[in-house]
Amino acid sequence: MNDQRPFAAEMPWPDFHARVKNGKTPILIPLGSMEQHGHHMPLHVDVLLPTEFSRRVAEQIGGLVSPTFNYGYKSQQKCGGGNHMPGTISLEGQTLVHQLRDVIKEFARHGGRSFAIVNGHYENSWFINEAVDLALRELRWDGIANVKVVVLSYWDFVNEETIAKIYPDGFPGWAVEHGGVLETSLMLALYPELVQLERAIDHPPATFPPYDVYPVKTEWTPASGTLSSPKQASREKGELMLAVCTDGIVKALRDEFSIN
Ligand code: ZN
Ligand code: MN
Repeated sequence: MNDQRPFAAEMPWPDFHARVKNGKTPILIPLGSMEQHGHHMPLHVDVLLPTEFSRRVAEQIGGLVSPTFNYGYKSQQKCGGGNHMPGTISLEGQTLVHQLRDVIKEFARHGGRSFAIVNGHYENSWFINEAVDLALRELRWDGIANVKVVVLSYWDFVNEETIAKIYPDGFPGWAVEHGGVLETSLMLALYPELVQLERAIDHPPATFPPYDVYPVKTEWTPASGTLSSPKQASREKGELMLAVCTDGIVKALRDEFSIN
């Protein structure tokens, strides 16, 4: 039996109902994207990582994990390589906003009052905020005014001390981490069978001018599709970030939802 797993969609409805109806159970909603992550990793990195963070966190705080959003907002050149890259399949902003708004409202209709949006794809950020705002507004119209939503991206929980350990040669910044040390290390720790490190392409961190151009100038994106080199990635670094981020998210949600 898998009744220990916190995935909402794996439960028969009476079990789901028992957990959700009183509004006490935090509901974690992971959001990802289908996006190229270089030659060495699959297209679902941004789906797998927030799903696993959500599972680990939910087990510690007694939460439930919603089905993950497998598609996200359009990849942007300076943080995801760009939507022109092969394998990157994206939603329009409005579609993502409406889907997430609907899902929050549906969980709330069944009793959910505490939500954590666990983002794994940077480009989703502002659309998440918009979806949450619309959901809260429309729930208020229905007389439901006690819903709280925490919005987070797991990498924001990597603290300075950990950054110094992971990037002894200097931190390139989260924007160019796409397919780099952070994501590759986490994948090596969690899903090593999906990483082909020998195919990783070593290159200096991508540099961009301080503006965007549309249509994108495809030559701005490194040919590999990664924005910094994954060569310094390791399973050990992945384990460290996994622990630091999981602990940080657990603490934040315990504080915000007054658990224990
Ligand atoms: Zn990614
Ligand atoms: Mn991404």
